Amino acid sequence: MRRGYQRALLKLSGESLAGPRGIGLDYQVVGGLAEQVKGVHAMGVRLGLVVGGGNIIRGTAASAAGLDRVSADYMGMLATVINALAFQDVLEKMGVHTRVMTAIRMESLAEPYIRRRAERHLEKGRLVIFAGGTGNPFFSTDTAAVLRALEMDAEVILKATNVDGVYTSDPNTDPKARFLPELSFQDAIVNGYAVMDANAFGLCKSNQLPIVVFNINQPDAIARVVRGERVGTIVQ
Ligand code: UDP
Repeated sequence: MRRGYQRALLKLSGESLAGPRGIGLDYQVVGGLAEQVKGVHAMGVRLGLVVGGGNIIRGTAASAAGLDRVSADYMGMLATVINALAFQDVLEKMGVHTRVMTAIRMESLAEPYIRRRAERHLEKGRLVIFAGGTGNPFFSTDTAAVLRALEMDAEVILKATNVDGVYTSDPNTDPKARFLPELSFQDAIVNGYAVMDANAFGLCKSNQLPIVVFNINQPDAIARVVRGERVGTIVQ
């Protein structure tokens, strides 16, 4: 048994909100994820959420197609706000008090991110969704997740994915691929395991912030990780 967590930052990729089509929003899938988040929130865990935007637009892909990279990245950051608003709506309909805070100011629809205010929301038992990434082009929502986790003093980053955790190679193509229940930051670097993008990963390593990579599609996955069950891969 690993230890359980009281303060955690959950990173949900845009893709995880898209369902089988891989693009846009699948409201049934969003509903299922929101149910999981509601369960964890009801356990009394202080929970922050960072959502990605890859189901709508990715800066690198859009710039490869000819868009200016900076504009494309801002579009990607706006995409995370769309996802955050959808998630908030679904959560609030389930009775979970939720605040969206954005790294890019847009007060008519969400609060600007102010650390002390975010802390206050968490103290009051509200779930906070951090949208807009870091607010800067050339970064990712993984980096935003690490930044917010460090700022809210989270004990762990929960990185929701569609695979069970970290393997020695791709389990879809290599029958010899071995699942790794735990690994050190150093091992991940030496072996080239892509846990998060390099910036985000470096920030975790230098601040000793553990990452749990787990499969969000398993029943009660988030609650099980938070309770300290051996789910997914822990990098620490
Ligand atoms: N993005 C950015 N700065 C940030 C966070 C995101 O420029 O701090 C842009 C970037 O273009 C990225 C897009 O927003 O491709 C969507 O975010 P990301 O790819 O991290 O989403 P995910 O893969 O988690 O769905």
